[in-house]
Amino acid sequence: MKRILAGLSLAYLALAIPFYSSENANDGSQVQLQFSAEDYANDPGYDLDLNELRLVQLEGREPVWMTEYEKIQAKAQGLNFFDITDAQELGDSNENLTTQDVVFGPLTHQSRVKSVISTLSVDGPKANLEKFTSFRTRYYRSDTGKESQLWLRSKIEEITSKSASESLRKRIITREFTHSWPQSSIITSINGNASPDEVVVISAHQDSTNMWPFLPAPGADDDGSGTVTILEAYRALLESDFKPNRTVEFHWYSAEAGLLGSQAVANDYKARGIKVVAMSQFDMTAWVKRGSREEVGVITDFTNNKLTQFNKGLIEEYLSIPYVETRCGYACSDHASWGKAGYPSIFTIESSFPNSNHYIHSDKDRIDISDEFSFSHLLEFSKLAVAFAIELGGW
Ligand SMILES: [Zn+2]
Repeated sequence: MKRILAGLSLAYLALAIPFYSSENANDGSQVQLQFSAEDYANDPGYDLDLNELRLVQLEGREPVWMTEYEKIQAKAQGLNFFDITDAQELGDSNENLTTQDVVFGPLTHQSRVKSVISTLSVDGPKANLEKFTSFRTRYYRSDTGKESQLWLRSKIEEITSKSASESLRKRIITREFTHSWPQSSIITSINGNASPDEVVVISAHQDSTNMWPFLPAPGADDDGSGTVTILEAYRALLESDFKPNRTVEFHWYSAEAGLLGSQAVANDYKARGIKVVAMSQFDMTAWVKRGSREEVGVITDFTNNKLTQFNKGLIEEYLSIPYVETRCGYACSDHASWGKAGYPSIFTIESSFPNSNHYIHSDKDRIDISDEFSFSHLLEFSKLAVAFAIELGGW
């Protein structure tokens, strides 16, 4: 609808753009949308009302109401934000949930971590990602986004039944965290032995989107890669009969756009007073830009500093490649929802932010687009997830 783009909203977006740093020019930003709301508004495969009003929070500004269409346009301009319509209370309290009594490190589980890492393989991630990218899109409000979520849940359950011992299986629960849209988030919990009320979270987002959500979005790197990265870590931990002291959870969020899925989950945990001691997000883990040094990008803005320092220690101890510090801006992935809720959260990405995959949010975010897409690189992040689970979960 042209009308919804008139006047205040366009002026608002123009105002907002100066807050967007050039470092964020990663995902086809500055793209002008070639589509209008009428083009696809009645597509039967989507449950999306482009005229629906949503409350959106951009960095350093008061929340503003805008339509779904305007949200899509803001994203195309390279802006990151929280859609806080359903989680307005999330950042309200200054209450510190960071459980300052929790100490991150020193590392004490070298032999066990190295033993589990030695069982990681690219075979699972390859097969899983081929299947996961075969859905036309994993957009959270699409039919195929629901189908991909159901497939992921069945894969998690298959791995659980194949890889976990009978006694371990009794401690594992996989559940769907439902939302007001069709695609659920998925939460798999390995119940802790000694301190089950303390929770360590390892996460990725399962959905994908094209810049214009009605177009195909294979989402191989964003964030199919993170999805299968943590799934492989989960498989290897189960094969090794990992019985943690704390509860260790794997989360696959729905709806990264606006961070809707992770905000809903973080909001629920906060409301229930759940003590999340550490959260680590994996979003894009497979890209090694031609001519660049292979490295792990450690995000240093909008992340918990102590936990980030600990994460660097894990990389130095357990990975084959070095890290590089990098920044990705406000609300750039799901760790931000947990940070907003007051929990210690971190984010690790495939490279320095400027060297990350530029094909995301397009039909070119495919495994076979370039030999820069690397499963051995992805596997370094599975190592990191394993190390995070064991060193913080205890064993
Ligand atoms: Zn992402």
